[in-house]
Amino acid sequence: MNILVLGSGGREHTFAWKLSKSPLLTKLFVAPGNAGTAAIAENVAMSVNDFEAIGKFSVENNIDIVVVGPEDPLVNGIHDYFLNDEALNQIHIIGPQKAAAELEGSKEFAKKFMMRHNIPTAAYESFTKETVEAGCEFLTTLQSPYVLKADGLAAGKGVLIIKDLKEAQDSLREMLVDAKFGDASTKVVIEEFLDGIELSCFVLTDGKNYVTLPTAKDYKRIGEGDTGLNTGGMGAISPVPFADAEFMEKIETRIIQPTIDGFQKDNLPYKGFVFIGLIKVGNDPFVIEYNVRMGDPETEVVIPRLENDLAELFQAIGNQTLDKITLQIKKEAATTIMVVSGGYPEAYEKGKEITGVESITDSIVFHAGTKLEGNKVVTNGGRVIAITSQAITYEEAIKKSYQNINKLHFDKMYYRKDIGFDL
Ligand code: ATP
Repeated sequence: MNILVLGSGGREHTFAWKLSKSPLLTKLFVAPGNAGTAAIAENVAMSVNDFEAIGKFSVENNIDIVVVGPEDPLVNGIHDYFLNDEALNQIHIIGPQKAAAELEGSKEFAKKFMMRHNIPTAAYESFTKETVEAGCEFLTTLQSPYVLKADGLAAGKGVLIIKDLKEAQDSLREMLVDAKFGDASTKVVIEEFLDGIELSCFVLTDGKNYVTLPTAKDYKRIGEGDTGLNTGGMGAISPVPFADAEFMEKIETRIIQPTIDGFQKDNLPYKGFVFIGLIKVGNDPFVIEYNVRMGDPETEVVIPRLENDLAELFQAIGNQTLDKITLQIKKEAATTIMVVSGGYPEAYEKGKEITGVESITDSIVFHAGTKLEGNKVVTNGGRVIAITSQAITYEEAIKKSYQNINKLHFDKMYYRKDIGFDL
């Protein structure tokens, strides 16, 4: 089977790494990929949003499955593009159709979906430019801190959590009237603040059947002690130690099952990963957000724990035969530490030579923002490399990742030294 993975981060390198172990695989392509994927697959210089080029490439290379890494192409309708083209509609796309991708593309859509299907989430109201003053009034009925969310995709920056009422009202006006996040903030969701600890769960569904993948917790802030600016993610751990069997049962019955049933009831065609961002308030799970693809760096800890053949799982999703597969998860915990360019998530330099990767033998090195320059591997993004380790306990796994980071070098490299220390 020929498989094309779309994307260029640690998530896509992890998919490629796992797929490359499958006996079902004939040829693996990654577009556009990075220096890590170049070593195990063929990188293709193609934008993830250039559907025409992706379609043409897929026909020319007899692609059977396209695995969509990031959300953008899904929200833009890549699955529908393939389905509507006779030459492409036999190719399996891992990722939902546009109508279902709205779960990530519009926060209001996601909130309405959860309300409709009685899925626990924070109470909310949404507002537009025309109703901005009603929104300011609504804020006075809530308790601080105030949670304001741009409705559309804003590269993870569209959520503001503000303590002061006046400041929250000013920010609401900036979002709605001054289009602070462009089109993404044409609508703003204001929701109740939930105080608790976050975790994520991941589901693979063929639209009818589903399997629940291991949970993970990621570390979003740049600074130790979860301080400073938000990033794409600085590290992750799987499983989440506080998600015991009783709590998982609540997630399954109150959230996962009604979500999958909701797709069918609402006629939302869904084949792919569902990433459910959760918050544990007291002993109860609430949904913070849906993402319609895997998380990065969560993929780097969830996928290595999977015993199953990923190509076989993807094939079952395409054929809607996921009920025939039993998921097998390794007992060992997995942790990943993200090594980033100094300055990230603000301005940083690229093109720094990375050395020491080959001396890391007992962790997995997943490339993110890297590229090949001649025979050198150089930095090419903010998040550069994720070091994943597995061990019986997550403490041991973390220790192994930190030991191996010491073998890695590039100018101005930075990483958090406290991943997992809060658990
Ligand atoms: P991401 O960058 O993860 O894609 P996003 O921009 O899609 O995020 P959310 O995940 O909805 O937005 O929110 C971002 C973060 O804001 C959450 O991870 C959580 O820490 C915080 N947050 C969101 N909603 C709430 C809430 N109701 N109560 C408390 N914290 C919240």
